[in-house]
Amino acid sequence: MGEYKVPHRDIRFVLNEVLDISAHYSHLPDCDDATPDMIEAILDEGGKFAERVIAPLNQVGDKQGCLLENGTVKTPDGFKEAYQQYIDSGWPSLPHSPEWGGQGLPESLGLAISEMTGTANWSWSMYPGLSHGAMCTIEQHGTQEQKETYLTKLVSGKWTGTMCLTESHCGTDLGLLRTKATPNDDGSYSISGTKIFISAGDHDMAENIVHIVLARLPDAPAGTKGISLFIVPRQLPNSEGEAGESNHVSCGSLEHKMGIHGNSTCVMNFDNAKGFLIGAPNKGLNCMFTFMNAARLGTAIQGLAHAEWGFQNSYRYARDRLQMRALTGTKEESKPADPIIVHPEVRKLLLTQKAIAEGARAMVYFTAMLVDKVTHSKNTKEVSEADSLLAFITPIAKAFLTELGFEAANHGLQVFGGHGYIAEWGMEQNVRDSRISMLYEGTTQIQALDLLGRKVLMTKGESLKQFTKIIHLFCKENTNDKKMDEFIKPLNKLNKEWGSITMKVGMKAITNRDEVGAASVDFLMYSGYAVLAYLWARMAKTAQEKIKQGTNEEAFYQSKITTARFYYQRLLPRTNSLIETMLSGADNLMSLDEESFMF
Ligand SMILES: Cc1cc2nc3c(=O)[nH]c(=O)nc-3n(C[C@H](O)[C@H](O)[C@H](O)COP(=O)(O)OP(=O)(O)OC[C@H]3O[C@@H](n4cnc5c(N)ncnc54)[C@H](O)[C@@H]3O)c2cc1C
Repeated sequence: MGEYKVPHRDIRFVLNEVLDISAHYSHLPDCDDATPDMIEAILDEGGKFAERVIAPLNQVGDKQGCLLENGTVKTPDGFKEAYQQYIDSGWPSLPHSPEWGGQGLPESLGLAISEMTGTANWSWSMYPGLSHGAMCTIEQHGTQEQKETYLTKLVSGKWTGTMCLTESHCGTDLGLLRTKATPNDDGSYSISGTKIFISAGDHDMAENIVHIVLARLPDAPAGTKGISLFIVPRQLPNSEGEAGESNHVSCGSLEHKMGIHGNSTCVMNFDNAKGFLIGAPNKGLNCMFTFMNAARLGTAIQGLAHAEWGFQNSYRYARDRLQMRALTGTKEESKPADPIIVHPEVRKLLLTQKAIAEGARAMVYFTAMLVDKVTHSKNTKEVSEADSLLAFITPIAKAFLTELGFEAANHGLQVFGGHGYIAEWGMEQNVRDSRISMLYEGTTQIQALDLLGRKVLMTKGESLKQFTKIIHLFCKENTNDKKMDEFIKPLNKLNKEWGSITMKVGMKAITNRDEVGAASVDFLMYSGYAVLAYLWARMAKTAQEKIKQGTNEEAFYQSKITTARFYYQRLLPRTNSLIETMLSGADNLMSLDEESFMF
């Protein structure tokens, strides 16, 4: 059976030593409660909860799955009790405003807890994860009354939230959605329609479920301009504000799916259910973007989670499993064979996972700090810069990290050989569970279009320039540091190349818009490797400085430098082939007649 140990040392390396999170918090208004002692206590307690309570339920959830019994969804054994412990400890309230019962701590600290619970058991952590997105939406766009009624309950964890966008004929293209919202005399709306694939749509873990639903008003314009957003509770609040009478919302069935079995994926029927408008009519998609951005960063963590889980377990296995002798001669005389970690190709599988997991951790927290700035800073210039960087990096973090997380999970299985394919070790579950991350919250293809089309080309490259400037300054600061040459030289080259390939794609797109689509995923992946190269160079620099200053943890820092070198020499060269394919043009994709794909 697989095991998860919170990588406390690595989390602290990224948060404290690379990103200097304490200085970041002390600079932001309302974040001064997040003192170094407080951060330590939160990480310690979060770690214990993830390891002791949630991790042991990971395989149980996969085996049992969820059951629909008499119209209610029953979650796997232990899920409900673990959730009660989670809310008793106040975890859902961590990053939310004290006005609604929250602790007012920075978002990045909440995400560190999500990393731990998510790696321990992704399916379980989706229940509070979806609530978090619902809370962000109501916090930003809800009325005072909606906040008092729903937000306080969500922040306490007594109620959970969902996100109801998808319908059977409409996934990516939300403009097609048909769910109807008819105005009632009392100012509420009657919501009718069926939503599919709704994560945590129904379950037995909380007293009530608050659905955030996209629907159309009777006179709404067609397409995305005619979508409004509603709060639709499973049970309507009674006069005391508690879950009262049922609200014509039901789970029609549960989807049978490839992975994340412990999370209920529901077909949700809204049959004249009472709903309450959030934000302005027909502006639902704008409000929903709040939800989606929070959810996208949450999904980026899923890439990190599966890479970390697979890495930890395959590393342990590779040191135990004895097969064949090392090519350079016997390493363990006393044993009948050497452990497989001596073989170069096994090491490649392990180091790829390590470089992805640790790099992803740096990217997630780097991005989370931008969220902190956007939500807490009072300096308008700082907010606007952080906001545009966040808009640029979110699709990269979501799509690139989940693509790499899946690759890493697959490598983890490969290290186990045939035993990886057998359920007992949990490696095949890790691969199955990771696969969804590239699909929901906008597929990789959609994130790629968002990045290249909206974020880069539509801003005439401004957001990209903002990021390449950060890299440029870092390279400049380290240009005379000979020990950093192996990172700074390729990083500088990559940074210049990033601008020039964008120009080339942009020029082609002037005459043919398909050029954008045809280059988009390669461009996103290239961008991901570039961002990670910058973060690995920063991690190497921090490690070198620590060694220079003198440390009793030299092996840890040396391991960082060696992993950075592995990343630069073995993974970063993938950018060369990405440039070639990206610039090969749309013709090799579009010239084949649709009828001629198959004979
Ligand atoms: C387990 C699970 C949980 C989910 N949870 C939720 C949830 O909680 N709430 C919710 O509302 N939804 C949820 N979803 C739905 C999920 O967000 C959608 O499945 C996803 O957005 C894709 O939509 P689709 O499946 O209809 O695929 P489609 O939109 O039909 O896309 C099919 C393929 O076409 C590609 N494609 C489409 N348009 C373009 C384009 N313009 N350019 C390039 N490629 C394109 C897509 O990338 C994809 O590969 C969940 C789905 C699953 C499987």
